[in-house]
Amino acid sequence: MSYQIANKNGVQYLVIPEMEEAGIRHFFTTRKAPQQSAIPFVSQEAFVMVKQVHGDHILVIDRPFEDGSVFIRDAMHKPCDAIITNQRPVGIGVVTADCLPALLYDPVQGVTAAVHAGWRGTVQGILTKVICQMTAGFGCQVEDVVVGMGPAIGPCCYTVGKTVIEPVRSINSRWEKHLTPVEDGKAKLDLAGLNTAQIEDAGILKEHIFTAGLCTACHEDLFYSYRRDGIGTGRMISGIIL
Ligand SMILES: [Zn+2]
Repeated sequence: MSYQIANKNGVQYLVIPEMEEAGIRHFFTTRKAPQQSAIPFVSQEAFVMVKQVHGDHILVIDRPFEDGSVFIRDAMHKPCDAIITNQRPVGIGVVTADCLPALLYDPVQGVTAAVHAGWRGTVQGILTKVICQMTAGFGCQVEDVVVGMGPAIGPCCYTVGKTVIEPVRSINSRWEKHLTPVEDGKAKLDLAGLNTAQIEDAGILKEHIFTAGLCTACHEDLFYSYRRDGIGTGRMISGIIL
């Protein structure tokens, strides 16, 4: 577990201390923000988010970003659950309320990524796909990439049924250990644990993986939780800025 709570412009957010010390500008907002769209560090205009659909498509921003850019404005309306960029000064982010937000950074090539990984994105291997895109498309070496995982629903509160258990089991037998069986054929899923296993398989060094380790459903004072609060709940924003 690795996090610190910070405040800027009235927005309360978490940071991963090791990433903060390395000079990586990033944040995971809490529910204590003046408005839902509030983000620290950058203006709304220089911050890109996408229409998230629990899929595995990636928005790649590899050309200069200008305010109002047609390319970006179009792209933001396409269904995507991850963003990769090497452009400055561009912030990228995802919104979550139980799903896992992951922020990636390669200090050598100067590439960032923001990923939304719920169970669907996770069984589609979205983080692995982002890492492949960073290496194939941007020349990143996997051993240089740092990954920070923000608050997400923990196995303590994430009981899942057949719909989730079946794909997790069938896609990769080694993923099964991230499911802890409970009564009625259900299981508790460790979303952060499963994603950690996947990125280690993809070659990310253990010492480059940092996890906030906070359960969104357990910490009502800090986070929104879809499971706890239902469909009308708010969303946290997780962002990284080059
Ligand atoms: Zn919990």
